Amino acid sequence: MPSLVGKSREELEAFLQPRSDAKLRAKQLAFHLYRRAESDLEAMGDLPLSLREELAQTTSVNPLIIASHRRSTDGVDKLLVHRGDGQVVECVLLPYDKRVSCCISSQVGCPMGCTFCATGMGGFDRNLDAGEIVGQVLALQKLTERRISHVVFMGMGEPLLNLPNVLKAMRLLHDEVGMSYRHLTVSTVGLVPQIRQLAEEGLPIHLALSLHSPFDEVRDKLMPVNHKWPVREVIGAMRDYSNKTGRKATFEYLLINEVNDTPEQARALVPLLKGIPCVVNLIPFNWVDTGHGFSRPSRDRVRSFRRILEAAGVNTTERVERGHDIAAACGQLAGQHTGRFSRRAGSTALPLASS
Ligand code: SAH
Ligand code: SF4
Repeated sequence: MPSLVGKSREELEAFLQPRSDAKLRAKQLAFHLYRRAESDLEAMGDLPLSLREELAQTTSVNPLIIASHRRSTDGVDKLLVHRGDGQVVECVLLPYDKRVSCCISSQVGCPMGCTFCATGMGGFDRNLDAGEIVGQVLALQKLTERRISHVVFMGMGEPLLNLPNVLKAMRLLHDEVGMSYRHLTVSTVGLVPQIRQLAEEGLPIHLALSLHSPFDEVRDKLMPVNHKWPVREVIGAMRDYSNKTGRKATFEYLLINEVNDTPEQARALVPLLKGIPCVVNLIPFNWVDTGHGFSRPSRDRVRSFRRILEAAGVNTTERVERGHDIAAACGQLAGQHTGRFSRRAGSTALPLASS
């Protein structure tokens, strides 16, 4: 059954043809679906009963089914959702004092094979469509009275491998849900052609690059994508993105004990980022059993790394991780009920690892 969530206003109107009032009904429907996050047709009182009955027969409203809902002790909600096929993805609601953010998935699994990431270890099944992407935000919105104002694409998957659907979802979040493009953040492993393509779109969205080392020999080991687009090339693309959109770049820097958290690497970042308006976001490794023996650095090591950057005038923030007790933190999203990271049956293995 087709779902209503994921359709633009024009698509809703086309779907409602040949009704003579299709334009008005599409507007009302969009308001309920997106602005009110309403998934119950019965609660859309200004639509004629006959239309609601017809839509109930012929469509699913939000394509997603909630397989599980957990709340952490620090107020983070995590949903495991799927569209009836059992291919689950995870999304997380993150309330802060002054804003409510959410972290959503763009793919079922991920083919990029980063060696520190639970999602990467499970392989790749498929891209999510725009309805499944926006559907996560709407499902999370129903859990809170406060309005979700920020969305980060830092859940499962590599958003730039699914750019058409991610772009469509971002347009829906902007046009229909009413969010600012400036509050949407796409995090990428560093796919240079797609970064350039995104820059061409001219949307003022926020782009974050998962950098994780200034040295190719270290980044190669952590992220197979680096063989294809090494450090200098991807930083060049980020520089151009920032120039073109006028947005500050974010460089995410995962800190793994004695792998990429050395003072030498902190010092090497400084000239590399010179002249790019940016912030470096430090993320201490969240433990997942990757088989590589990675561990989280001590507070002292994180502090020393940060001090080197700040002394050199590089803006630095540190990610406060939340939702540990429900495995909702960065890199821990495995999309499995059990929390074990075996490759899903039939999933694809790391195409870039060997290229
Ligand atoms: N595919 C995109 C977005 C999803 S991953 C990307 O890689 O950027 C979101 C962030 O979580 C990335 O910065 C990623 O490097 C980080 N991450 C992955 N595994 C992690 C772990 N075990 N601990 C902390 N951060 C992790
Ligand atoms: Fe994919 Fe991002 Fe995980 Fe790498 S860190 S495997 S790109 S989700």
